[in-house]
Amino acid sequence: MKPRCAHSTYHNEFKKYDLRFGKPRVDTCDVCDKFGEKEKAYTIDEKTEKESKVLLCNIRKDQKSHVVSAKRAYLFQSYDFEKTETTFTLDYDWPVDASQIDFMSVDCYETQTQDAGGNLRTPRLTVGEAYYLRILQTFSYGIYSHARRQHSIYMWNETIGEKGVNNVLSAEHDHHMNQGTGAKYLKLWFDGCPGQMQNWTAIMYHLYITDPYFGGRMYERLDECLPIKGHSYMENDRAFGHIIQESKGYKTISDYFAWMKIASDASNANPYRVVEFKQEMHFDWKAFLSQVYVKSRDTIDEFHAKLSGAVWRSYGCSEEVVKQPDGSVKSELVYHPGEVWLRYSHNDKEPWTKVDLRRDCKKKDQYIYSRNAQGFMCNVSTGDLPESTKKVSEKHKDFPLYKNGLRPIAALKYRDLSKSKLHLPKEKQQYYTDLPYDGTIVDSADEDEPDLDEDNNQQM
Ligand SMILES: [Zn+2]
Repeated sequence: MKPRCAHSTYHNEFKKYDLRFGKPRVDTCDVCDKFGEKEKAYTIDEKTEKESKVLLCNIRKDQKSHVVSAKRAYLFQSYDFEKTETTFTLDYDWPVDASQIDFMSVDCYETQTQDAGGNLRTPRLTVGEAYYLRILQTFSYGIYSHARRQHSIYMWNETIGEKGVNNVLSAEHDHHMNQGTGAKYLKLWFDGCPGQMQNWTAIMYHLYITDPYFGGRMYERLDECLPIKGHSYMENDRAFGHIIQESKGYKTISDYFAWMKIASDASNANPYRVVEFKQEMHFDWKAFLSQVYVKSRDTIDEFHAKLSGAVWRSYGCSEEVVKQPDGSVKSELVYHPGEVWLRYSHNDKEPWTKVDLRRDCKKKDQYIYSRNAQGFMCNVSTGDLPESTKKVSEKHKDFPLYKNGLRPIAALKYRDLSKSKLHLPKEKQQYYTDLPYDGTIVDSADEDEPDLDEDNNQQM
């Protein structure tokens, strides 16, 4: 006989304990653990001693190479930070207004890391009964700029917008516009969040902001890197950790404005830039960018590229070994607007896999940039330096992601929130009273609907 118990019963039971499925904070991963288990389980059999030794040796070899690639990724990230620090020193003279800074005006290197924070329980109450009730989680997304040594935390909830790739790119866009550094080169490190890393819209967005032809260019070169899966502790994790720590000082957290206040207070030394991620800041990048770029996995030389395994993506221009007329080889910067160049390791000797995503790729001009005597990148044939720009196109603003005001929540959620809000101070209740909802409120205690929209999964 099958147990008669609905998913929601488990769900509600589980919710009582305020448990979360977080990312492991210890720097070891499934792969590491598996190697350990395999090795432990392995006993050398006398009869097949030789073969066994070879097998064991192979396990150790694979393990070593995994650990080496994880270490290499961390090492590269720390090189990136060092490179950024050579120009953007701690006493760097920033204009008060970031809009004063021209894009690509400084021949140097900015490093940023990005990661989605956990969904934060809202309202967070001390009343036990409230754990049974549906909540209106606060979404958070973090972008860390090493040039500015500044964390930005974007916060919103589902009535404002979803937590999909359009939303995340909108946060990134806001960050480029309002936390600009003027750097020509941008290195982005992402968490191993596959949604973002394997998403065509994210690739198109980075093509767009390095492409001189559609008015959106902000960087001469942009590289995105992914740490090795399971070994992806980043600056953002530190900030989210501080926010959770700070929240422990609060008995009740009433709404996402309260979470914003907590995030603002979480770091004394260098307060986080907390952004109320308003609905008008969310754009439909997918629709906007598909006017210019196409999804394509065909590489330049007709080979079907694998997007999922790539841990390094390069846009704008990249170093490549180019054969010289005299037969020798030399590393040069090759300019490749509209093409994303992929690597499947952090090894800079690996040849690039090149994928062209422009709608009209036949007209592509490809020319080579190299360093001039002053060390600046310039066009080989004309000697021109890439131009810096003050303004970038605002055409994406014709593609707002939400047009009809706050997004209604489900009636059942509204009903639960109406119960929870009674535990909040009077002045905090109105927010929940005013929320739009779909459907009719039925006040039945034994309804047993699974509540799928509260999964902590990121809907990327
Ligand atoms: Zn590992």
